[in-house]
Amino acid sequence: TSWFNKSEFIPPDAIFALTAKFQADSSPQKVNLGQGTYRDADAKPWVLPSVNLAREALLTRGLQHEYLPILGLQSFREGTAKIVLGSELFDKRATQIATCQSLSGTGALHLAGLLLRATQNKQPTVYIPEPTWSNHHQVFKSLGFPCESFKYYDYETKSLDIDSYYNMLKQAEPNSVVILHACAHNPTGCDPTKEQWREIAQVMKARELFPLFDAAYLGFNSGDYDEDAFPIRLFMGEMDMEAGVCISFAKNMGLYGERVGCFLLGTKDEQGAVNLQSMLEMLQRSEVSNPPGFGAKIASEVLGNDSLKEQWFQDMETMSSRIRAMRAALYDNLIASGAPGSWDHLIQQSGMFGFLGLSLDVVLRLRDEYHIYMADNSRISIAGLNTGNVEYVARSITECLR
Ligand code: PMP
Repeated sequence: TSWFNKSEFIPPDAIFALTAKFQADSSPQKVNLGQGTYRDADAKPWVLPSVNLAREALLTRGLQHEYLPILGLQSFREGTAKIVLGSELFDKRATQIATCQSLSGTGALHLAGLLLRATQNKQPTVYIPEPTWSNHHQVFKSLGFPCESFKYYDYETKSLDIDSYYNMLKQAEPNSVVILHACAHNPTGCDPTKEQWREIAQVMKARELFPLFDAAYLGFNSGDYDEDAFPIRLFMGEMDMEAGVCISFAKNMGLYGERVGCFLLGTKDEQGAVNLQSMLEMLQRSEVSNPPGFGAKIASEVLGNDSLKEQWFQDMETMSSRIRAMRAALYDNLIASGAPGSWDHLIQQSGMFGFLGLSLDVVLRLRDEYHIYMADNSRISIAGLNTGNVEYVARSITECLR
């Protein structure tokens, strides 16, 4: 008998499987709107000019491949905390934060889970919006957390269901964790307004719920980093709450495969920061020992050099404005081709994704007959659109809906 009698087959991750299917498709017409990776106007991956400059500077100075400290590159952690909190809040809270470099955003979520598990007597419930990024449940379930979905989006009105959100917060068990997409909610593209964020923060504070921000798109959503970081700064600044922030540089620096991220924790007092920092160090040591260096060095170079940082701000504007333009172009082409129904939801959404609201039948037909690949829930990565394919995509959708 095998040691692994209890093993079972787990189907491949849907979005990675979709990418593989797209790559195997030989049609010249094929369009990839699946995985959320930025593509330029020629459907090519884009290395940010700021990242190229940082890489050159590193190579010129000479790059080593020594181990980083367990908590990661100090200049990267500090640069990250400063940019996420803004310099004013950073100065105010500098002694009340703990940071740990992580394996991108996913690793930050996992570290957050490890820490939350290690610091509570009973494992708290994790409340997760429905729909959400496909990996949230897995990350927290794999750590043994009870996970609860709450209705975030109304499929009828195709918009954020804020009343359902407030109701969940008012009914959640105290000492629970709530996953908050800081901006550019994946997959719906629907975020709370600033006023709604205020209400969310007040209820969470009153009910002692722990805010865990998933911040994978800061600066990538609006093109303005400060604007996108608003809810994080609201909770940790004005509302003076403890909060965790899971930061990814995959999208906003285009460092996907380098796994550059950081977990940032705002604590109640200085001793808490010291203790929690030490716990993060122990948790990191037992799992990855020390994080990868190359991407963190690039990010640190960008964050720590004024002219590179300026270039990075421009790069984020370049990406987010191309995405905005393509969102508008898809809308215009859908209307022009006579697609049935209203498409206003598409232009009310923001960020990398468009949540089209197509049935699975249509999604599969687009994939099989038109070589247009999108997630089963009809989420499209808008960056996959360009002036060469947007009309084809709109026309194909219209044909499938007629
Ligand atoms: N959270 C959300 C909402 C995401 O969309 C992503 C990327 N798809 C991540 C976290 C984490 O990505 P990474 O681990 O590549 O930083």
